[in-house]
Amino acid sequence: MDFALTEEQTAIFDMAKAFGEEKIAPFAQDWERQGTIPKTLWTEIGALGLGGIYVSEESGGSGLSRLDATLIFEALSMSCASVASFLSIHNMCAKMLDAFGSDDVKARYLTPAISMDTVLSYCLTEPGSGSDAAALKTRAERSNDGYVLNGTKAFISGGGYSDAYVVMCRTGDDGPKGISTVVVEDGNDGLSFGGLEDKMGWKSQPTRQVQFDDCKVPADNLVGEEGKGFKYAMMGLDGGRLNISACSLGAAQSALDKTLTYMGERKAFGKPIDQFQALQFRLADMETELQAARTFLRQAAWKLDQGTPDATKFCAMAKRFVTETGSKVANQCLQLHGGYGYLADYGIEKIVRDLRVHEILEGTNEIMRLIVARQLLSDRA
Ligand SMILES: Cc1cc2nc3c(=O)[nH]c(=O)nc-3n(C[C@H](O)[C@H](O)[C@H](O)COP(=O)(O)OP(=O)(O)OC[C@H]3O[C@@H](n4cnc5c(N)ncnc54)[C@H](O)[C@@H]3O)c2cc1C
Repeated sequence: MDFALTEEQTAIFDMAKAFGEEKIAPFAQDWERQGTIPKTLWTEIGALGLGGIYVSEESGGSGLSRLDATLIFEALSMSCASVASFLSIHNMCAKMLDAFGSDDVKARYLTPAISMDTVLSYCLTEPGSGSDAAALKTRAERSNDGYVLNGTKAFISGGGYSDAYVVMCRTGDDGPKGISTVVVEDGNDGLSFGGLEDKMGWKSQPTRQVQFDDCKVPADNLVGEEGKGFKYAMMGLDGGRLNISACSLGAAQSALDKTLTYMGERKAFGKPIDQFQALQFRLADMETELQAARTFLRQAAWKLDQGTPDATKFCAMAKRFVTETGSKVANQCLQLHGGYGYLADYGIEKIVRDLRVHEILEGTNEIMRLIVARQLLSDRA
């Protein structure tokens, strides 16, 4: 067993970290205030090969592993978790198109997504179905030349901003087997968006409802086979959960790094606050918890790369553990900054706000516990 990163993996991490420090961190607070991320950033990220991180090389992607991807998301999130997690959603969609899309779908939607001339959104959640995603109601009726979509998707990251939407919709009966996946292009007749959601964190990413009113989509925009869309969506989520965990890890690590610096500078009762043993113990606990989270995350990613039978369980356990650890550490870092932690200038309160949603999306952490418990009980039988 070898826990060390390879030279190539270290280089990937360093490259993503340096890119974030130069091109993301200095602007992250402005983008948050503006509520958007300039699209020029995506083409720069695409040029680094990060628009299709684990898209196969045959399809034009970088062909990296899930473990490599966690390094990239950890490194980018040290600059901004909101930007990094948006890239994660885009990559999740790109991988679905790579794994299941026809050559035609790949040519039209995957190729520009890899260069990030276009960005993709993932549309599963609806106003009436979140955790119970297989209960989705958006309907895609077959017509002579394709599908006619009617329904509403909720909480869509990149809604009204992305260039194409990977939409899970019902082509058959109730339940997961009646669900298919289609790509809907921005500008399509019958596609419209709700108002901008006013959120606690992830503020630089626009989140809106995505609405379909007799939205006609060509039959060729079907991804893979009819009735398999839910399976595709769930397969995308295993990796998405690792990425989101990596985003929590990287942002929490940057909060801890900032806190270490701050505690050496801030004085109380005549000495730097890093001299109080109670606070030193908190630093030790945070370091231990982040290292444990990192090791666990990388093990889960390794399992997904190897395709082990327990990979889904490990992705769920890692998502639950790493996102909760990340939030806890970030919140402690805010506390150790005293009142200054509450001010935007110190960059900690943004991390606390951004990380909170990682416990909710890509499957809530209650649903992660459900996946783990179900697996435990079925293994027992
Ligand atoms: C900022 C943001 C961005 C998002 N981006 C996207 C996106 O791009 N695409 C997309 O498709 N979705 C997106 N989502 C939606 C997200 O995935 C859902 O919010 C999430 O899956 C939870 O669904 P819900 O909000 O309907 O909560 P509900 O499912 O209504 O859950 C409410 C509570 O009940 C708990 N619960 C539900 N069922 C069970 C159960 N069986 N056992 C125990 N507890 C249970 C939940 O854990 C939660 O605590 C986003 C959400 C947010 C907030």
